[in-house]
Amino acid sequence: MSNVRIRALDEFSTHKASRFYEEKRPVSEFFAENVFDMPKMKRYLSPEAYKAVVDAVNYGEKIDREIADQIAYGMKSWAVKMGATHYTHWFHPLTDATAEKHEAFVDPMQGGGVFENFKGGTLIQQEPDASSFPNGGLRNTFEARGYTAWDPGSPAFIIDQTLCIPTVFVAYTGESLDQKTPLLKSIQSLDKAAVAICRMFDKSVNRVNVMLGIEQEYFIVDEAFYRARPDLMICNRTLLGHTAAKDQQLEDHYFGAIPSRVMAFMKDFETEAYKLGVPLKTRHNEVAPNQFEFAPIYGEANISADQNLMMMIIMKKIAKKHRLKVIFHEKPFAGVNGSGKHCNWSIVTNTGVNLLSPGKTPRTNLQFLSFFASVIRGVYEHNHLLMSSVVSLSNMYRLGGNEAPPAVMSIFIGETLTKLVESIEKLTSKNLTSISDKEVKVRSKLHIVNQIPEILPDNTDRNRTSPFAFTGNRFEFRAVGSSCNVASSMFILNGIVAEQLVRFKALVDKEMASGLSQDKAMMKIIRQFLVESRDIRFEGNGYSEEWHREAQRRGLKAINSVPDAYKELISPESVRMFEEQGILSEREAHARYEVLNETYIKKLQIEARVMGDLTTNHVIPTAISFQNSLVENVKGIKELFPDDYAELCKTQLNMIRKISSYVNQLHLYVHDLVEARKVANVIEDIPRKSEAYYSTVFPYMDKIRTVVDKLEMVIDDELWPLPKYREMLFFR
Ligand code: ADP
Ligand code: MG
Repeated sequence: MSNVRIRALDEFSTHKASRFYEEKRPVSEFFAENVFDMPKMKRYLSPEAYKAVVDAVNYGEKIDREIADQIAYGMKSWAVKMGATHYTHWFHPLTDATAEKHEAFVDPMQGGGVFENFKGGTLIQQEPDASSFPNGGLRNTFEARGYTAWDPGSPAFIIDQTLCIPTVFVAYTGESLDQKTPLLKSIQSLDKAAVAICRMFDKSVNRVNVMLGIEQEYFIVDEAFYRARPDLMICNRTLLGHTAAKDQQLEDHYFGAIPSRVMAFMKDFETEAYKLGVPLKTRHNEVAPNQFEFAPIYGEANISADQNLMMMIIMKKIAKKHRLKVIFHEKPFAGVNGSGKHCNWSIVTNTGVNLLSPGKTPRTNLQFLSFFASVIRGVYEHNHLLMSSVVSLSNMYRLGGNEAPPAVMSIFIGETLTKLVESIEKLTSKNLTSISDKEVKVRSKLHIVNQIPEILPDNTDRNRTSPFAFTGNRFEFRAVGSSCNVASSMFILNGIVAEQLVRFKALVDKEMASGLSQDKAMMKIIRQFLVESRDIRFEGNGYSEEWHREAQRRGLKAINSVPDAYKELISPESVRMFEEQGILSEREAHARYEVLNETYIKKLQIEARVMGDLTTNHVIPTAISFQNSLVENVKGIKELFPDDYAELCKTQLNMIRKISSYVNQLHLYVHDLVEARKVANVIEDIPRKSEAYYSTVFPYMDKIRTVVDKLEMVIDDELWPLPKYREMLFFR
């Protein structure tokens, strides 16, 4: 066995479960102790400064510089008391990672010594020399300035003695260079559009917030295996590797007992998560071996998105202590389930009403239906854009597989709501009139909805094959990938819903202007939206062949090529929606489009290089050594039995031929892969280059893998250089 593999297996068997962050206090005592949250602000800030933050958070009021100084002083006092020595603006450039540049609090004092200093100006704004962040041409190097600006809506927190201040990141022109800015803008536009409708029901509504609960799936492997696999280390996924004889077919991993080493790790990261104010609720084994999931209690989308990124950071950090590696890649192991980040999405009013929760009275049901129909209508209108928002090199290895949502959008609403929707579709303008004239009728029509809170808890209708499902009081978007920043799909979802809410209100107003009562006008438009978007609703098996044919017939576009999907971001319809909702300008949309393509190219380029190296330096030499041993064997037998050696060595001779043919194929493919890359690399235009990578480089990844995986089955196990799936994918 190769030395690397022996060492990895040895190390693996010696690693034991142990805790590092044990905490004896009950969670309620240390929850959010590392967060500068509202209660702490109340303690550390003057009443005036505290009110300024509250107004900024609740009403988007600007905080002026003088007050900012007071806030900075309070924040610093708290942070220094908590042992923080540094601060950083913490932001999300267009890389799926977070960025931070630490500065020490200390400043020199006149006459010697130092003191902890932190001013309002530094809290509010920084100017990172950030010209090397992806910007899609929004920032030429001669105007390389970028600004980070404090987001008071997401509280500051301390990790590793550093005070992290969530910020947006924009170019000097104000154009967004990050994930948070469009997310915040989309939340604002949805707020505005939704409030206008809510106020038709209840004048005390003045704010609608987007809520998000993120279920995060991930893999865990032993660090020793990770280090022994260059593909895992560099690409976060195995580019090669035959599936194990047993993986998930017995369905014995899902909800199974959590292995003790993983459990110790989970408890440690949960302790840290609680200190960071992340309200973790659920943990369990997922379907695939070594796959797990956690889910916090849902919260404001902006904060949930930030907390999800915080979790990804601390999990990686804590896994190290446990000699484990957390893998957020969507498909690290071929043949077993991939990982997603299910986004549970709802909208609530400042009065505490979940607008996606079926109500108890006809009026609240009418409100529920207005929002429910608008979400469906929006997802229908921009179905391809929403699906495209989850597309990346890594997530496309997962989507459309046999376990992950298909790469075509559809909405599942369940049997009860389907019945209701169908009955609404059947309404005619005549009975619409009678409904509004006699509210009793509305009640009888909508009564089915009234029953829903009683029915849903027992409702077993949970369609796991749908990319976008209504689950009782929220929609769950399941196509989002496990490694990404959810903001990139959530700002699109918010935007497309906001667009329909604006349209809904305008259409209702028009009907009312022409004499219809408000309820009647609303029912009419709800019906219109549901009828218009009928094609997006699908209750059947999303994995089936028939559905793919049916979806095509309905005009729902499936994703096939990544660069093609990205084009959706700059389609005229998408740009119009982004601009009208004030989320992205056309230039910003184009910049993101460039960055997405650039990232795709770079990641595929890296994978292709690693694939070439592994094949040439690991696989082919191993195949040849094994073949040599076969040749030696045949030669020896020939010496002993010169007459019938051919008969005796049938198997060996066959294998020698087979190996030669595999090696030749591999050599040819790797050569062609390198050539295809060379051709693609000289293309200057980024989207064209990305298309070239997709159509000429990408296909070799699969071709090469197939041959290597066959070789793995032929070659002596002792010689194989890389840890195998069956070794990496089981905790004992
Ligand atoms: P399941 O796996 O059955 O879908 P989980 O309990 O694992 O459910 O996760 C559900 C997620 O949805 C949790 O993060 C939960 O807090 C969140 N959630 C529940 N209700 C809402 C809601 N109204 N809006 C947004 N998210 C919600
Ligand atoms: Mg779920």
